Amino acid sequence: MVLKTDVKIFLNYINGEWVESTNSEVEASISPANRDEIVGYIQKSSIEDLNKAVETASVAQKSWRKLSGAERGSYLYKVADILEARIDDIAETMTREMGKTLPEAKGETARGVAILRYYAGEGMRKVGDVIPSSDAGALMFTSRVPLGVVGVITPWNFPVAIPIWKIAPALVYGNAVVLKPAQETAVTAAKVIECFADAKLPNGIINFVTGRGTVIGQGLIDHPQVNGITFTGSDEVGKQVGLGALSRGAKYQLEMGGKNPVIVAEDADLDLAVEATISGGLRSTGQKCTATSRVIVHKDVYETFKEKLVSKVKEIKVGNPLEDGVWMGPSASESQLNTVLSYIEKGKEEGAKLLVGGNRIVDGELANGFYVEPTVFDEVKNDMTIAQEEIFGPVLALIKVDSMEEAIQVANDVKFGLSASLFTTNIQKMLDFMSDMDAGLVRINAESAGVELQAPFGGMKQSSSHSREQGQAAIEFFTAIKTMFVKG
Ligand code: NAD
Repeated sequence: MVLKTDVKIFLNYINGEWVESTNSEVEASISPANRDEIVGYIQKSSIEDLNKAVETASVAQKSWRKLSGAERGSYLYKVADILEARIDDIAETMTREMGKTLPEAKGETARGVAILRYYAGEGMRKVGDVIPSSDAGALMFTSRVPLGVVGVITPWNFPVAIPIWKIAPALVYGNAVVLKPAQETAVTAAKVIECFADAKLPNGIINFVTGRGTVIGQGLIDHPQVNGITFTGSDEVGKQVGLGALSRGAKYQLEMGGKNPVIVAEDADLDLAVEATISGGLRSTGQKCTATSRVIVHKDVYETFKEKLVSKVKEIKVGNPLEDGVWMGPSASESQLNTVLSYIEKGKEEGAKLLVGGNRIVDGELANGFYVEPTVFDEVKNDMTIAQEEIFGPVLALIKVDSMEEAIQVANDVKFGLSASLFTTNIQKMLDFMSDMDAGLVRINAESAGVELQAPFGGMKQSSSHSREQGQAAIEFFTAIKTMFVKG
């Protein structure tokens, strides 16, 4: 490949230095808004690079774990300040690299700052309990100890927030980290790591190695000095990660897909439900793990809801995500675009009725990007592919039901269980939904895609390995409990 001389090559960060890979090959990270724009070059790192990163992390962690939580937290405050000062640049890079609109990218980067500050504070919280011993003269208590080296494997859809919500708790609880970002958004991830580097964390505590999932990701899973793997991505890859980690006794945490329902009851505020369905389903081009993809509507309000929804979807402005007023950008990559288009075809073949959208957008400049129309299907049955598999695109499937019982049964009838929303004004329906909905995030009169950083996050069934991320729940994965018994 002939490299463009004005485009930067982003290096690995190992043992406190930006270093070239032992493999000289690089790949271009292209903009999904315009396939001719190269956002940066990324190294296709080798297993030797990864091994070096893990070895240095393993050595560095031995001193890092000896610092107090407050001292480790003080580094995170520094990273937060640096990231905050760079929000505009990092958000713009994210928008160029994965196609999220600029306001969303800024919001995500600001979220990263808040997560860092939250976990900086967590460094001062209690990490154990005193447990009464049956031996009167003894003191028995627990403490939380770090795992050691944690491998962090991340997807492209939240290239700032997801790495940070894994790295920040990992570090504050005393672990060292090796991050392998998604190739599609590795430039954005490199700019996040620059903030850690510039905060001058001790060498080797945070390492960054770009490259293929099958080489660098797999290398982390297999490496005997990696004590924990935290993964967010697809369920296919997640299951391999879990099995690989389990086979050598490493701890693992998996956050995978969703097929998130919104239920609209007959007594719902329909305008609110429409607004939340559009925001939860189509923002970020439907590429959130918590995105709404099934809309299960009571028959009494089905036609009115459908009419309101379709008319609002038709108003959505799709375009270059850097431009003011654009509400939805492109799919994040060509392969993602093709996946979405093939699900749309499958929906038509299986008998769902296309109400709006359904096509790639090829008008003017948009033809050079990976744009797809916001799409709504009617007459969807729950056994259709578009009602069962994660599409990860701007596609909503409308399903009509006769009762609330049927709505919850349909909502639960998928392999995933990440997020679910109900729109109703009836307290009994709210209680039934909270009790019977199999999802890690159960939300009422709110879109399926809302996440607050101080609350536990994760799914049920095949959405997650069930240990939670974010909030204080993160301590469960990033530490082990030690039970101590002392007798004078
Ligand atoms: P992906 O599974 O293709 O890739 C995720 C990461 O795994 C990437 O860094 C990739 O390089 C790496 N990888 C690929 N093959 C590997 C292997 N054999 N061994 C180790 N690592 C490997 O996912 P994606 O396409 O980047 O992201 C989209 C998916 O992420 C969607 O399914 C979405 O639902 C999911 N997601 C889930 C959450 C959540 O919290 N539940 C959040 C965001 C995204």
